[in-house]
Amino acid sequence: IDLDRLGIHDSVDAVFPPAELADFLADLPFDVGVVGDDDIESCDAIVTLEHRDAFLDLDWVHSIQAGVDRFPFDEFDERGVVLTNSTGIHDRTIGETVAGYLLAFARRLHDHVADQGDRRWERPAWNEAFTLPGTTACVVGTGTLGGGVADVLGALGVRITGVRRSAEPVPGFEEIYATDDLHEAIADADFVIVTVPLTEDTYHLFGAEEFATMREDAYFVNVARGSVVDEPALIDALEDDALAGAALDVFETEPLPEDSPLWGMDEVIVTPHCAAYTRDYFRDVGDIVRENVDRFDSGDELRNRVV
Ligand code: NDP
Repeated sequence: IDLDRLGIHDSVDAVFPPAELADFLADLPFDVGVVGDDDIESCDAIVTLEHRDAFLDLDWVHSIQAGVDRFPFDEFDERGVVLTNSTGIHDRTIGETVAGYLLAFARRLHDHVADQGDRRWERPAWNEAFTLPGTTACVVGTGTLGGGVADVLGALGVRITGVRRSAEPVPGFEEIYATDDLHEAIADADFVIVTVPLTEDTYHLFGAEEFATMREDAYFVNVARGSVVDEPALIDALEDDALAGAALDVFETEPLPEDSPLWGMDEVIVTPHCAAYTRDYFRDVGDIVRENVDRFDSGDELRNRVV
């Protein structure tokens, strides 16, 4: 690929100011600039959050997210457009967010934050609060996100098990189950944490059966993609007290509709798809883009190539 102009699509503005990344990459030996939908065709390559059909006329598209489920892989393939993603950078951010959710549930911090809004002084019941050491978290998806979650929770004394397509061991995970044994994996866990990509295989991987299999005092965490979970089935399970609670960063419809019952549940923490946000995000993405520009030059295989 011969690059004359790399565009930073203004859709990345939902995660960081596009100009920050353009500045960070300004020393590359070609033009780098922020572009809107009107000047996509002025570029050979683009760094983006969202997909646009006009990208199919470019040579290379880089997604600032790890999840690329909304890009039409077949059309990229047919048109010879290279697609790369940003997997590999969200280990610590997601790990710390998930640790925050678990600490909130264990130490009841979400209750106190809610009470503070009402200026209410209310202590937890004697048997509500607990500590994390000795609990088990089953992490479904053992890649970058899962590994980061295992690292941070492991340091807090949580026993970590994992689920992946094969049962091959993964460092940081005490036990690994294949996806076929998902029910066995989640049955005894105090926390079930979803970190898989959304694919045909993982669409609604969690539904009524899985929530019935989990312990009634277990918490469910989804930081992957909304459609990995059958959301109405999750809501039913929470309303029926078949689960202790949930922390959710991603939803089947985003933004989460105002009338969703999830907003009003005491034992549900809702975050607006920002579990991986950090002020260093543009630098982490920029490092991948820079590395791939070098690899284009040297003819090496690209990092994080999807198509
Ligand atoms: P990786 O590719 O590093 O890891 C994905 C893991 O999922 C792999 O280890 C893979 O293991 C496992 N996996 C794939 N299919 C299945 C399956 N059917 N059953 C069980 N395990 C499976 O990706 P990341 O960790 O970087 O990202 C994962 C997803 O998380 C992204 O696709 C994105 O949707 C989401 N994400 C969400 C963010 C947020 O802001 N909330 C931020 C970043 C990512 P194996 O190959 O062994 O099966």
